[in-house]
Amino acid sequence: MLAGPPKNAGERRFRHHHWRNPMNIETQTHLATLRELLNYRLHDLESEEHADELARRRYAASGDVSDRKDEAAQLVEGNMLEAQELRDVGDLQHVRRALERLHAGIYGDCAECGEPIALQRLLAEPAAERCASCQATRERAGARTR
Ligand SMILES: [Zn+2]
Repeated sequence: MLAGPPKNAGERRFRHHHWRNPMNIETQTHLATLRELLNYRLHDLESEEHADELARRRYAASGDVSDRKDEAAQLVEGNMLEAQELRDVGDLQHVRRALERLHAGIYGDCAECGEPIALQRLLAEPAAERCASCQATRERAGARTR
């Protein structure tokens, strides 16, 4: 009886998917595009963060004015600014982490299952940390606990 290949040779996972291969021009173009998208988003969010900070300071300054009629409106505005800011900060962290992964050469792998995230998904959402199915699972779980 002939000795076949090692039993688990076929089971070994192919870790480097084609578009990350440095010899592949298409890969490099995609990564460059994604890096550009991320940098653009980063810049965008940083300006937004700055604008939010200014808006909040203006709001805080205007809080001294004892105009009773506007108090409720100001409270609503303040809460909205805060919510917007929290969202932006969250996005900013996502984008920064994505750029770090890109730099480390591990960009594009799902944080949950380790499978490569579809390029289409990354192009639509460059800061995505999970593949579509893991993200959906997570959102379902999140919706339940909320
Ligand atoms: Zn996944």
